Amino acid sequence: MSIASNLNTVRKDLPNHVELVAVSKTKSIEEIMQAYNAGQRIFGENRIQEMTEKWAALPKDISWHMIGHVQRNKVKYMAPYVSLVHGVDSLKLLKELNKQGKKHKRVIPCLLQMHIAREETKFGLDEQELQVLVASNEFREFRNVQVRGLMGMATFTDKEEVIRKEFHELKLMFDALKNILPGLDILSMGMSGDYRIAVEEGSTMVRIGSSIFGERQ
Ligand SMILES: *Cc1c(COP(=O)(O)O)cnc(C)c1O
Repeated sequence: MSIASNLNTVRKDLPNHVELVAVSKTKSIEEIMQAYNAGQRIFGENRIQEMTEKWAALPKDISWHMIGHVQRNKVKYMAPYVSLVHGVDSLKLLKELNKQGKKHKRVIPCLLQMHIAREETKFGLDEQELQVLVASNEFREFRNVQVRGLMGMATFTDKEEVIRKEFHELKLMFDALKNILPGLDILSMGMSGDYRIAVEEGSTMVRIGSSIFGERQ
């Protein structure tokens, strides 16, 4: 199957209000261009250096999303161009994004990453940390970073009920947070293996790699 036909298969599965981030980490410029030529304009990467090299080499109407864990000392490399940072999980990181946004005279859109999976290893905030963060004075004073919503990854399992429950909980957190931050409009949840469940549970943005580009090495 070609990248273009995979892309169309995934698109047919998605309602119109759900945005597709094509996760192109480890994939070549040529492979990304195949998706681009099939109309895809949003790509997701998990390493800032790799994303920046691709940004420099590829058409400038691409929106680049950072979906991985962000090291604060590397924010400066993506600050001029990144369209959305999905994996924000601390006030310190928001502070650095705000500082770099100011330097580049722009507002950097972000999502707060929530820890919803059973695994210990996945990054993200718990509900209490989220409450503390959004209630802080510092948070309210940021002008060059804008929180647009939440992101989360479900447990890696074939038990559908576990995945569905975790996505459902994330949707409840998202709806509750909207009472405090009414502008929120993005709920990033769902990958190749679980995006259909995520969409049923209220996702507005899915991050799909292997179903489009094939398995990664
Ligand atoms: C790699 C990655 C994806 C895409 O995973 P696939 O299973 O290939 O669709 C989605 N989200 C994050 C955070 C990732 O790191």
